[in-house]
Amino acid sequence: MAPSDQQPQVAVIGLGIMGSAMAGNVVAAGFPTSVWNRSPSAAAPLVEVGASTTEQADDAVRAADVVITMLPDIAAVRSVMFDGHVLEAMAPGALWAQMGTIGVQATIDLAAAVKESRPDVIFVDAPVSGSKVPAEQGQLLILASGPTKASAVVDRVFSAIGRKTQWVGAAGAGSRIKLLVNAWLAFLVEGAAETLALSDRLGIGHDVLTAALDGGPLASGLAMAKLSKMDRGDFAPEFPLEWALKDVDLTIVEADSPPLPVLAAISQQWHVAVDQGLGRQDISAARSALEPR
Ligand code: NAP
Repeated sequence: MAPSDQQPQVAVIGLGIMGSAMAGNVVAAGFPTSVWNRSPSAAAPLVEVGASTTEQADDAVRAADVVITMLPDIAAVRSVMFDGHVLEAMAPGALWAQMGTIGVQATIDLAAAVKESRPDVIFVDAPVSGSKVPAEQGQLLILASGPTKASAVVDRVFSAIGRKTQWVGAAGAGSRIKLLVNAWLAFLVEGAAETLALSDRLGIGHDVLTAALDGGPLASGLAMAKLSKMDRGDFAPEFPLEWALKDVDLTIVEADSPPLPVLAAISQQWHVAVDQGLGRQDISAARSALEPR
C-alpha cells in the first residue's frame, strides 16, 4: 500500500463507455494508472495521456493500491477476477472497487468470495449513477459500500471520478440503491419514449411538446435529454439499452412478488427491442422499439 501522503497507484479493468472515461479522469488527476481491456485497442487513447497497459489483466493490477472494475455483469466480473486470476494477483492489502452494476445478491456473494480467498483485500461495492458525459466530466454519483476503513483508502480516487461519494453501509447496500435509481431512470425513459410516440399519433409537434414541458416541474434533466436524443434520432450509445434492461431485470428479482407491473412491462418491451438488435444503441432507442418492425 502507498503511504497516505503518496498518490495511490490505480488499475482500471474494463474500458468501455464508462471505464474509459473514468480511467481518463484518474490519469488526469495524477494517479499512476494502469489499464486493461479485453479488446486491447480501447487502451490506446489512455496510454497516449499517460496510463500504462499490459497484455494480461493480472499484470495490470500487481502494483495497484486501488483496482477498479467497470465490467457489465457478474459473469464478466467472475471471468476476469477469478478465472483470469486477477484477484489472486492483487497486492497484499489492496482495495478492489467493483463499479459496474451487477446486482445485489451477486455483490454480496462476491464480497463473501473475496473474504474467503483474499481476506486481506478490501472489497468495495461502488456502482455509479450518471452516464457517458458525467463520466467524462468526473461528475458521477458513487454509491459506495464496504468496510469503514475503505473510505480513507479510496476517497481520493473516487473524487477524481465523481461529484459525490455516498457511503451507504456494508457491501450490497450501494448496489441496492443503484437498482432503485435505475428503476426511476427506466420509468423516465420509457415515459419519454411513449409520450413522444403519443405526440406523433396526436399530431402534436415535438417542439410544442418540449415547449410545454420545458422549465416546468415535469421536465427532469434526464428525461428532457433523452427526449431530445429521440427527437433527433440520435441513438449513439451513452447508456446501452442492453445494460438498462439488465438493470431492470436485476431490479425485478430484488422486488420479488407481487411483481411491479410497469417495471415488468418495460422489461418485456425492452427484451423485444434487444432481440430486434437495438441492445447496443442508447437507451433512447426505447422510442424506436415502439415502431412496428
Ligand atoms: P460497455 O461500454 O458495453 O463496456 C463494457 C466493457 O466490459 C468493455 O470494456 C468490454 O470489453 C468489457 N467486457 C464485457 N464482457 C467482458 C468479459 N466477459 N471479459 C472481459 N471484459 C468484458 O459498458 P458500460 O456502458 O461502460 O457499462 C459498464 C457497467 O457500468 C455496466 O454494468 C453498466 O450497467 C454500468 N453503468 C453504465 C452506465 C452508462 O451510462 N453507460 C452508467 C452507470 C453504470 P470489450 O471492449 O472487449 O468488449
